[in-house]
Amino acid sequence: MSSETRLPGLLLVLSAPSGAGKTTLAHRFRATHPDAVFSISATTRPPRGAERDGVDYHFVSPERFSELVGAGAFAEWAEVHGQRYGTLRATVDQALAAGRIAIFDIDVQGGSQIKAAWPREAATVFVLPPGVAELERRLRGRSTDSDDVIRRRLAAAQAEVGRGVAGYDYVIVNDVLETAAAKLDAIARHERARRAGHPDEAAERIAAGCRRAAASLV
Ligand code: 5GP
Repeated sequence: MSSETRLPGLLLVLSAPSGAGKTTLAHRFRATHPDAVFSISATTRPPRGAERDGVDYHFVSPERFSELVGAGAFAEWAEVHGQRYGTLRATVDQALAAGRIAIFDIDVQGGSQIKAAWPREAATVFVLPPGVAELERRLRGRSTDSDDVIRRRLAAAQAEVGRGVAGYDYVIVNDVLETAAAKLDAIARHERARRAGHPDEAAERIAAGCRRAAASLV
């Protein structure tokens, strides 16, 4: 692609409660988008299983992490399950400068910070597991449950996804991987096309559905 037609960079933030299939979705997206890169976070937690330093994470000591915080090296960082995790500012800057899609597999605290710092460049996507999809279907479709039951179930789902989802741009319900992958693809296409000033109507329609899904959960 020539530099004239090059699409703008995109910070694609994926967050999810466990079991939502976020990692599978992220890898699939990466495999089908040659210009996408994973953001490799720094963490104080030790490697698990076959994880490799510099591939899955930058594994650092608590002291080194504190140094990086002090040096302002992080675009965001958060404590998750008693360990610290952070996105390096350089990763964001490089992706945007190169017009690439950076995929962030981070929690909602981090995702909200990325969105606040890069409101135009970032798209925050919350991936929901099929269990909550079922709830959403019930809420939207015809149901024999009383409003009260539906409300209670939605409240439980909301508790599961946490407060952070309220600020997220899009929700993708991952009941069928193919469908979820197509939605993520449409969100990325829509976001970049919009910023390039050449709206992609087909992608926009699908993305709008994911926006409505996010609005219906808050
Ligand atoms: P795990 O230890 O299972 O790899 O990750 C635990 C949690 O930390 C996951 O929810 C993951 O999304 C989140 N996480 C990983 N890297 C980062 C990061 O750089 N920043 C933030 N805020 N969360 C992260």
